[in-house]
Amino acid sequence: MPAHILDGKSLAAELRAGVKRRVASLAQRGMRPGVAVLLVGDNPASRIYVRNKTRACEETGIYSRHLDLPATIGEAALIAEIEKLNADRAIHGILVQLPLPAHIDPARVQAAVSPAKDVDGFHVENLGALVAGRPRLVPCTPAGVIRLIDRAGVALAGRHAVVIGRSNIVGKPLALLLLQRDATVTICHSKSQDLENIARSADILVAAAGRAKLVTGSMVKPGACVIDVGMNRLADGSLAGDVDFAPAAKVAGWITPVPGGVGPMTIAMLLENCLTAHAQSTA
Ligand code: NAD
Repeated sequence: MPAHILDGKSLAAELRAGVKRRVASLAQRGMRPGVAVLLVGDNPASRIYVRNKTRACEETGIYSRHLDLPATIGEAALIAEIEKLNADRAIHGILVQLPLPAHIDPARVQAAVSPAKDVDGFHVENLGALVAGRPRLVPCTPAGVIRLIDRAGVALAGRHAVVIGRSNIVGKPLALLLLQRDATVTICHSKSQDLENIARSADILVAAAGRAKLVTGSMVKPGACVIDVGMNRLADGSLAGDVDFAPAAKVAGWITPVPGGVGPMTIAMLLENCLTAHAQSTA
């Protein structure tokens, strides 16, 4: 039997509608969550990501402020902008679009964002809270993956979850979230040996390596839940995940498509993080 498709687009739309309702109810009490999005330089892909984020905020009624900063801005000046936003009571979330120009250290910039306004969940304080098992603001893509698995009704406790990829924004925080849900977690990366066999032992297999078609059908355990985080631009301009979808879908129990799987969930989780940050600011 072919796999059930995990439709991230429709789940994300549902979650966004929920955010919109909660923003409307806050408005009745005279409150409005607000987000600032900082774009440094003129990377066309970054400009699209920023536009998608501000548009999603506007659609749900969250106030959004876009700061367009020149590529020549110095690190100290960028941090000064962030500090102004840290002190701004209309702003509850601060997003710094990556990548930053080479002369700016992204770690120092991320560290300048108040942990309470870190709606990307990248600040070491928020990552530390996740490690300690007391998550506050959680990175959006990993949070979206967990929501998709939950929506499928796939149990995590005691099951083997394999995460391919160990980045600080996807692989590592996702492994921690899976661990928190009592899965037995294996993290694979570019130096891992025997990826094929490890993947084939996964009840839940998450591919977040950024390598098109890395996961073949023979790497999927029959009935497994396969989550494809990868977004790879092919030579013909089309978008491909890390999973070879058609053969994997013949074996898996559940599978996410690309596009329309994890991608839309990331922005939905960002909106939810904005509400969480706002709620914590008024608590
Ligand atoms: P990254 O480049 O920072 O990390 C990739 C990880 O994959 C590394 O840890 C590396 O060790 C591992 N890896 C690379 N090649 C491998 C191989 N052959 N075998 C095993 N492991 C290998 O990337 P990232 O930022 O974590 O993103 C991963 C992918 O997810 C990219 O395609 C990115 O575009 C996509 N992504 C999607 C969303 C979304 O919203 N859908 C969000 C973030 C990232």
